[in-house]
Amino acid sequence: MLLVMKFGGTSVANAERINNVAGRIKRKYDSGNKVVVVLSAQGDTTDDLIDKAHEINKNPSKREMDMLLATGEQQSVALMCMALEAKKVPCVSLNADQCRIYATSDYSNARIKDINTQRLKNELDAGKVVIVTGFQGINRKGDVVTLGRGGSDTSAVALAAKLKADLCEIYTDVDGVYTGDPRIIKYARKLDEISYDEMLEFASLGAQVLHNRSVELAKKYNVNLVVRSSLSNAEGTIVKEGAKVESMLISGVAVDKNVSRISIIGVDDKPGTAYKLFSELAKKNVSVDIILQSIGRDGKKDISFTIARSDVNDAMSAIESVKSRINYESVDHKENVAKVSIVGAGMATNAGVAALFFEATYSAGVNVNMISTSEIKISILVDEKDADYAANAIHDKFMLQASAIRH
Ligand code: ADP
Ligand code: ASP
Ligand code: MG
Repeated sequence: MLLVMKFGGTSVANAERINNVAGRIKRKYDSGNKVVVVLSAQGDTTDDLIDKAHEINKNPSKREMDMLLATGEQQSVALMCMALEAKKVPCVSLNADQCRIYATSDYSNARIKDINTQRLKNELDAGKVVIVTGFQGINRKGDVVTLGRGGSDTSAVALAAKLKADLCEIYTDVDGVYTGDPRIIKYARKLDEISYDEMLEFASLGAQVLHNRSVELAKKYNVNLVVRSSLSNAEGTIVKEGAKVESMLISGVAVDKNVSRISIIGVDDKPGTAYKLFSELAKKNVSVDIILQSIGRDGKKDISFTIARSDVNDAMSAIESVKSRINYESVDHKENVAKVSIVGAGMATNAGVAALFFEATYSAGVNVNMISTSEIKISILVDEKDADYAANAIHDKFMLQASAIRH
């Protein structure tokens, strides 16, 4: 069997954990599997490197940032190989360049385009375990680029897809995908399986247990994907096509605190205003999430939208540059907001979901600032201080009472 095993930062945080993971890898190797391992940087290394950079320059170029951050993963793979060497397991570590992981040029947020697996296959055929740096690729210039925070999951799934691996295992610090972040949701419970579509929505809405692009790729290439713990032998969660979350209306609740709200007050109420604004934001690569527009009055209206906090500076300069074309009166920017969402394929065919959702926010006494819905999700924007409380209230409402409104 050809196996891709990915271990996240906490799973390789120190020497003991590395040795523990090496033991796990050895067991798979000894039972006759071909094994490719993908690693993240140890513990808080990526955050520490970011802090280090900011001590020197508050606004470093993305290229140099990627150059720096990519070193975290390189440390992990070398250390893991050393642990395997000590256990007499033949192995080799490869960075993105050596592994020929080709990606787009977008520093700090690149996408994997292709992988030339020749070297990798040669190493596997020579009987070695291959340990690959997650989170990074090389662009057309040959520069190292990173794949966005949490991107090692995507490296693992891309390798599994390209190698047509039998299984891609994502080892992390929880037993699997839960109905909500177990650090926030008190009564969260583990799911045995979840569909690619629900997981994709879940990951995009803030469930950081899987990088959203990894799920996109897994769906596209039908990768057998499982999320499980590196610290226990508990069965994980299988992510697959058409999985049914047993008789549950929703598969879970997600909280995203990496959100900012921008309101543009008093823009011209005429055709083309939204186009001018959002195309300027798009030019600056700012992704806009929830959009709310007020009813026009006296030729003026307000437009509010949410973006990632890291995009605020770019958004503000885009808004400034479009000022004379949309004639706004003022701009208001709110940082301490959060998005709380529910996800579930069962929602599309069940009346009463929205009522139950807002009953929960009402009884929790939480004020809702913005709402956005799709076939399989409802998202609201709330004050950050209310987010965890609201998420628990919504979670418990659905887990405990949802059966009441099933047909
Ligand atoms: P790794 O370093 O292994 O990639 P991450 O921190 O990226 O780990 O992802 C695992 C974390 O994701 C968990 O510790 C948990 O707090 C968080 N998480 C958020 N939502 C969920 C969820 N629905 N199910 C499980 N974990 C979740
Ligand atoms: N080390 C990177 C991060 O912290 C990538 C990853 O862990 O997946 O975001
Ligand atoms: Mg992660």
